[in-house]
Amino acid sequence: MIEINNVTAGYEDSPGRAALAGLSAVFPDRKLTVIIGPNGSGKSTLLRTIMRFLPAAAGTIRHNGVDLEEMNEREIARKTAYLPQNRPIPQIRVREMVLHGRFPYLSFPRQYSRHDREIVLQALKDADASELEKQYMHELSGGQRQKVYIAMALAQQTDNILMDEPTTYLDIRHQYETMRLLKRIAKEGRCTVAVLHDLGMAFGFADQMIVLERGTIRLQGTPEEVYSAAIIPEVFGVDLVKTGDESGKTFYYTRELQHE
Ligand code: ADP
Ligand code: MG
Repeated sequence: MIEINNVTAGYEDSPGRAALAGLSAVFPDRKLTVIIGPNGSGKSTLLRTIMRFLPAAAGTIRHNGVDLEEMNEREIARKTAYLPQNRPIPQIRVREMVLHGRFPYLSFPRQYSRHDREIVLQALKDADASELEKQYMHELSGGQRQKVYIAMALAQQTDNILMDEPTTYLDIRHQYETMRLLKRIAKEGRCTVAVLHDLGMAFGFADQMIVLERGTIRLQGTPEEVYSAAIIPEVFGVDLVKTGDESGKTFYYTRELQHE
């Protein structure tokens, strides 16, 4: 579980302006929390601040009840895995990549053990990426690579996983596969947090949502609660439509705001 309380943060080169202003939220275990918001609303900044890559100017952040200020980097990495929005693609094999997830557990001499390698194989299996084990990262498709990054996060064996736009650049089927995987990870117990752009995906898969607008939380709640609040046109400048199929399953999709 991650808790943030009254968190304010900003960047040194724009000191007059807080990128995040007084944010409070709880990211519970066993839930997929989806963060949505227009470009520049502070989604990536929020994840970076939770990981302390950017220092909070005010407020408190807790990972599993422990204050962020009281943890060293290793302790943070043992509690929370983080997939940044932009990642360089290293020219190494998949299993070496996933082994990096074990780094926070290494002790002197810095060598991966048989136990670490077993965890890597299991993580690849859980992420449905076993068949990629011997391939090179730069030879994979975007969807395959995403599975490997998720396997790396699983190998880190953290209670919390934060992902910044994990479905960007994926074709539609792999977007669904990735969302399904995140949903499963959450169901199995982890506090799972994803920043998403696609509102249909966000509303379709989230257990709870946080809507960011200009560095503040405009609203948080279940997809149904956020939909009912009817704030999407104002925040995103598009319409959100709710519909259902014969089985009673609910779907959401966006469309242009109606013009006269
Ligand atoms: P989002 O992920 O929602 O698109 P960001 O968190 O990246 O938004 O950005 C929030 C605000 O902080 C924006 O106004 C952006 O210009 C600013 N910002 C983001 N990264 C930096 C940076 N490295 N230096 C200065 N300002 C930044
Ligand atoms: Mg971003």
